[in-house]
Amino acid sequence: MNPESVKNSQNISPAIRVGVLGFGGLGQAAAKVLAGKREMILVAVADQKGFAYAAEGLDIKECIATYQSQGSVGYLEPVGTLTNNSIQDLIDTQQPVDGYFLALPNLPNDFIPSVAKQFIAAAWQGVLVDAIKRTSAVEQLLGMKEELQAAGITYMTGCGATPGLLTAAAALAAQSYAEIHKVEITFGVGIANWEAYRATVREDIGHMPGYSVEAARAMSDAEVEALLDKTNGVLTLENMEHADDIMLEVAGIVGRDRVTVGGVVDTRNPKKPLSTNVKVTGRTFEGKISTHTFTLGDETSMAANVCGPAFGYLKAGQQLHQRSIYGIFTAAEIMPQFVK
Ligand code: NAD
Repeated sequence: MNPESVKNSQNISPAIRVGVLGFGGLGQAAAKVLAGKREMILVAVADQKGFAYAAEGLDIKECIATYQSQGSVGYLEPVGTLTNNSIQDLIDTQQPVDGYFLALPNLPNDFIPSVAKQFIAAAWQGVLVDAIKRTSAVEQLLGMKEELQAAGITYMTGCGATPGLLTAAAALAAQSYAEIHKVEITFGVGIANWEAYRATVREDIGHMPGYSVEAARAMSDAEVEALLDKTNGVLTLENMEHADDIMLEVAGIVGRDRVTVGGVVDTRNPKKPLSTNVKVTGRTFEGKISTHTFTLGDETSMAANVCGPAFGYLKAGQQLHQRSIYGIFTAAEIMPQFVK
């Protein structure tokens, strides 16, 4: 019995066939998360230099070992293909994939929207999920709503940790109030070395005073290291341009000017420098002012808090797609579904 039929025999509906685009820190963590699931099966992976596809499911350990030793899953025999145009070439194979998690750098700031356009142009139909961070990037995607609808794509945006899990928690917490006054997100991230999450760290540098997305993108690895040396590996971020604001505004919960996001990233220590939390302050119908606080467990990693929700939203998106509900939805509008 092949792995897919083993999975399927335990389910009424067949396993959701998942592709992961981008196989860096988050992409590899996403694959590891899927290894423990029976409702989803990893069939496709793409990185900058190639892709791999296997209808019966990819061997996750082999994918990671090949990527780490040779730099691309394209080297994986016999399922890999080496190409500098991996996303387009993977789509062009027309192999069946129900949904993709876009664990890609959003550098430049319109990269992920441009990937969504590739899927539309190819007449691909299914679910796309991102963990994109910037408000301006989510705005571009929201502007593609009608194109996505017409294409038969159900696009779930902002579905990582922040935006994502914490934005959804804020949407839920808001229910106690008649009026929302502010939403404050503070995140703590601890990673052992910055090379494991190059795009995340570069994009965070883009939020620092005096930097931009373009400036961070243009920095060499040596320049990133020199900057981190100056700060002892710690990045402190305030008033970030984070899409939690637009997502909560579009969901009709609170104006974007009332949402703030900041955090501390330690790139030299897996221990979190502070506990990630969201505080939602409002007034109840009785006139009481109060604050709900939702705090993530310190033992949960960034990868766990991004990849878990991403697949929860992929499953929710798949249910919408099966009901012919297409277009674009944010993590603040839809409840994620738990993936078994
Ligand atoms: P990374 O740098 O570790 O890996 C990026 C991967 O993308 C690499 O495998 C690379 O080969 C691949 N890639 C780059 N260009 C490509 C292309 N043109 N075609 C195919 N593959 C390509 O990245 P990371 O640190 O894992 O971050 C991924 C994304 O996740 C970032 O955009 C980051 O902002 C986002 N993120 C979101 C949250 C959240 O809570 N919402 C948290 C952390 C990270």
